[in-house]
Amino acid sequence: MGVAGSWLIPGFLSRCAPADPGPEVNYSGSVAIIGAGAAGLYVADILRSKGIKVTVYEAGNQIGGRVKSLRNQPAEAYPNSPLMSSDFPLELGADTYIGTDSTLGKIVQVYGLRTTEFPSSANHFVMDNTAKSAADWGSDPDFAAAMAFRQSLSSLAGSGQSVQQAVVAAGVGSRAHSLLNGMIGNAYGADNELAGAGGIGEEEALRTGDGKILVLTGNPLQELLISRFIGVQPSVKLNTPIASIDYSANPIVLTAGDGATYQADKVIVTVPVSVLKGGGINFSPALPSTHTGSLAKIGMGASFRAIVEFKRNFWGETTGFIFGSGNVPEFMSVGLSRSTFNATLQITVNGAKALAYSSLGESAINQILADLDVLYGGQGTQFVRRKFDPSTSTETDPIWVKEDWTTREYILGGYSYPLPGATNQDRKNIGQPINGKLFFAGEATDITGNAGMINGAMASAERCAEEVVKSILEPA
Ligand SMILES: Cc1cc2nc3c(=O)[nH]c(=O)nc-3n(C[C@H](O)[C@H](O)[C@H](O)COP(=O)(O)OP(=O)(O)OC[C@H]3O[C@@H](n4cnc5c(N)ncnc54)[C@H](O)[C@@H]3O)c2cc1C
Repeated sequence: MGVAGSWLIPGFLSRCAPADPGPEVNYSGSVAIIGAGAAGLYVADILRSKGIKVTVYEAGNQIGGRVKSLRNQPAEAYPNSPLMSSDFPLELGADTYIGTDSTLGKIVQVYGLRTTEFPSSANHFVMDNTAKSAADWGSDPDFAAAMAFRQSLSSLAGSGQSVQQAVVAAGVGSRAHSLLNGMIGNAYGADNELAGAGGIGEEEALRTGDGKILVLTGNPLQELLISRFIGVQPSVKLNTPIASIDYSANPIVLTAGDGATYQADKVIVTVPVSVLKGGGINFSPALPSTHTGSLAKIGMGASFRAIVEFKRNFWGETTGFIFGSGNVPEFMSVGLSRSTFNATLQITVNGAKALAYSSLGESAINQILADLDVLYGGQGTQFVRRKFDPSTSTETDPIWVKEDWTTREYILGGYSYPLPGATNQDRKNIGQPINGKLFFAGEATDITGNAGMINGAMASAERCAEEVVKSILEPA
């Protein structure tokens, strides 16, 4: 699958049926799945385990979609980067998951993988160009108002305001706006100006579980998906972007970018909502207005990830996330409790600021270091680890990698978020099956409050698999 195998978790762990009793669902037809991210792989796995014939069409050259681990990338893409051999897994896309008791949490437990928690007590928050822990901000009134606002997000369900309008309406002082942007808008794949308070509030109210924020201690997330879904991989056709789906026909006709055609009796679309909104797939007949109307209310915008290596940790050995710096809403001290050196910072920027980073290209590192310099008295530039040129015995460029999701073909952004006025019903609408032939999964169609996340993608796969099976057993 174009990925290194050395860290693979044994495949037998992903096959749990002790004896094969024959197909659970008798179906002579076939199901095509568009997209081999978490949702596509999981729905394929569920259907396959029921004896249904599946083929997964993936535009890219790897499985995983927005789960993309640095260690699983070809070395030539990151020549001479010491980050490729970091002593803990680095992630270019999804990095954390929420809940030991979530779908992903349970898979992690079955595999017996070690995890590291990022407790909220480890977070630092920026106001007045200073990063401090909650304990150190103490009773600062703006900080207290910001935390109270964050705590009561679920009470905003039903609001038609943007998050920023709700922040202002709640009277939170402007010193704390940037940190709330890091904790809310940016975390939800946007920024506080773009994201809808009502939709986010509704999702927070729906979410269940222990809410712990976890990372895998030693295993890249992409490798977990590869191992868990090893049984699906023979059914995946990589480098096969689907350009059009004619579901008026029987069987349905899929046309790939190179003009090749494929047939299926049912099709599951799991591509990012940005691809759907941008007309990346031509549907015939066009999608109904219930779908297009709700798609217009769900956003997916710019997203920029960078990982930077330092000579020493100057932000705090026990620090987890740092929220609210001017141009970097979220720093994450990704080596926390995982790395011997613990001197790596991960940057996640969504929304308008991500567009700015995207346009900076290779010089984005200067902006990141400048931000750190403001927060930590010049230590960003002073301590960034640089490549060493033995011919001149000098240090050269900073050691860092970036992933600009905004320009990544077939992804085109970060993850979905509700625009002001959107509700969970919009996510239900875009996931509605059409004529028992066309089905939808993927994080944006999650209705359990986990949209935008791997757990949401997986929950959507479970919902969608049930819908497909129902359409076979109880045809309309
Ligand atoms: C920077 C960043 C940070 C994130 N952080 C977290 C996090 O910490 N925790 C978390 O839970 N989630 C996080 N996420 C979100 C998480 O990665 C996604 O919600 C999840 O992986 C989405 O899975 P999916 O299957 O719905 O979509 P995807 O993974 O996007 O899979 C869809 C697949 O469809 C393919 N495709 C697109 N168009 C076509 C076409 N025409 N034909 C064929 N194939 C096509 C794509 O190549 C892709 O592989 C993050 C995402 C990003 C970008």
